[in-house]
Amino acid sequence: MTVAVLGGGISGLAAAHYLKLSNPSRKVVIFEASHRLGGWIKSTKFDDGTVYEQGPRTLRGAGNAGANTLALAESLGLTDRVISVPYSHPSAQNRLIQVCK
Ligand SMILES: Cc1cc2nc3c(=O)[nH]c(=O)nc-3n(C[C@H](O)[C@H](O)[C@H](O)COP(=O)(O)OP(=O)(O)OC[C@H]3O[C@@H](n4cnc5c(N)ncnc54)[C@H](O)[C@@H]3O)c2cc1C
Repeated sequence: MTVAVLGGGISGLAAAHYLKLSNPSRKVVIFEASHRLGGWIKSTKFDDGTVYEQGPRTLRGAGNAGANTLALAESLGLTDRVISVPYSHPSAQNRLIQVCK
């Protein structure tokens, strides 16, 4: 059976991932309206190494949803790329806004 997932944002990508996990022989097709996957997730890297997140920039680790997200990162081998930031850290307390003219 082929399953169609509408939208290639994080929800659609996660849904497709779990659909494949639950049945690896199942064919999953993602239909994405735009020219790229990720939806709101969009990172721009500048020449000096600065990464500007135009959408989400944090994973909230609290509760069942947070635990599930961290388990997903682990299952994808991304644990060593997760940076834990305490609420007291300056990056958690300040916002930088890029103004485009
Ligand atoms: C500025 C900003 C900062 C945020 N910061 C955080 C954060 O720090 N932490 C956090 O957890 N969340 C954050 N969020 C919320 C988070 O970004 C969203 O909850 C999440 O990205 C939504 O993902 P989604 O896949 O549900 O939807 P979307 O990202 O909107 O993806 C939907 C996709 O479906 C496609 N689509 C739509 N209609 C169709 C169609 N008819 N056919 C095919 N494709 C279609 C769209 O093109 C899009 O790619 C932030 C959001 C914004 C805007």
